[in-house]
Amino acid sequence: MENVLFLACIEPDGSLGKTARETLAIARQAAAELGAEFCAGLIGEHCEPGSRTAAAAGCAALYLVEGSAFGISRYATDSAAAEAIARAARPTLVFAPAVSRVSRFIAGLAQRLNGRVDTQITGLAVHDGQLVVDRWFYRQRIEATLTRTTRPWLLTVAPGTMPAFDGDAAPTRVERIAVDLPESLQRTRVEGVQAPPGAGQTVRPDAELLFVAGAGWTKPQRDGQSHVEQAAQLILGFLDRTQASLGGSKSLVDVGGEGQPVLPFLTHLNQVGQTGATPRHPKGLATCCHGEEPHVVGWRFINERRAINLDPNCGWARGKADVLYVADAFAVMRKVNELLGG
Ligand SMILES: Cc1cc2nc3c(=O)[nH]c(=O)nc-3n(C[C@H](O)[C@H](O)[C@H](O)COP(=O)(O)OP(=O)(O)OC[C@H]3O[C@@H](n4cnc5c(N)ncnc54)[C@H](O)[C@@H]3O)c2cc1C
Repeated sequence: MENVLFLACIEPDGSLGKTARETLAIARQAAAELGAEFCAGLIGEHCEPGSRTAAAAGCAALYLVEGSAFGISRYATDSAAAEAIARAARPTLVFAPAVSRVSRFIAGLAQRLNGRVDTQITGLAVHDGQLVVDRWFYRQRIEATLTRTTRPWLLTVAPGTMPAFDGDAAPTRVERIAVDLPESLQRTRVEGVQAPPGAGQTVRPDAELLFVAGAGWTKPQRDGQSHVEQAAQLILGFLDRTQASLGGSKSLVDVGGEGQPVLPFLTHLNQVGQTGATPRHPKGLATCCHGEEPHVVGWRFINERRAINLDPNCGWARGKADVLYVADAFAVMRKVNELLGG
């Protein structure tokens, strides 16, 4: 019989982050469909209220590694904690969120447990009692369904693939695990967090809407002039009113390097596409962006797509958008901002 372990690092406030709760939901589904045992292992300075959420999901046992040494993301301590949990829980399947902290140690954990790891899974099913998982390859162009016989099989779950589990408290067995931490495991110190200016505030993975700005915002307009300051005001005004996430085309984020006037709040972190990100939002609006294939491949997981472009023959018109507004994005966004207020 399979034994499913949900493994996660706790947020600084003791809760489970959104991706962790999405992973909890998928681990719970796997355990239910496999008729498997289900338990959770949590790592953090303190694990309340995260452990209550895991208990509410039906975990029969909770393995906790707590203490100030585990409050930070550090390979040596996180992998020691995860290994101790796995030795206590003896899982055959491990589900963990594909967040940077977990991604740093999960391969090392698989090695220590003599297991195998597959990362960024986006779904699962059970066929003839056998777990199969979905994963995208080659910049989201090929979708594969895989299974493995090796155990333990460790899986990280891509953000945004499932509604997050929410719930608070249920009785369960709690086991606190003491992990021996020699000084040599604590040499790495976290001195602070540096977020890139601008992009840190404009990339919002949980937003309902992705707003993409293309290079057209910086190009000469009908009067022969470019209006970059006006473009910045319109884009930031819209983001401010809607809290949408900001994406950019490669051409736009690259123009900074070409000495042209740029929108300073757009960096390569905003880039959507083949060599950029593949974000997940229910809706997307592309503005002044041509909709070429290497860009649109990054829209794979955007459910409803709209675009504003002056050119009725742009890429979006060729089956890549649900709605194309053939219009001047400056005029449209000015009106939209007015309607949104202020
Ligand atoms: C190997 C490779 C990888 C790549 N990876 C990526 C990637 O990850 N992401 C990416 O984005 N691109 C990528 N590209 C580049 C991609 O092919 C395009 O060159 C790029 O997406 C074009 O950006 P754009 O649409 O913003 O600019 P442009 O092609 O310059 O289009 C600007 C658009 O703005 C419109 N416009 C101008 N003014 C207005 C206005 N007032 N109102 C409305 N519309 C207006 C124009 O009609 C035009 O369609 C890649 C290319 C290669 C070869």
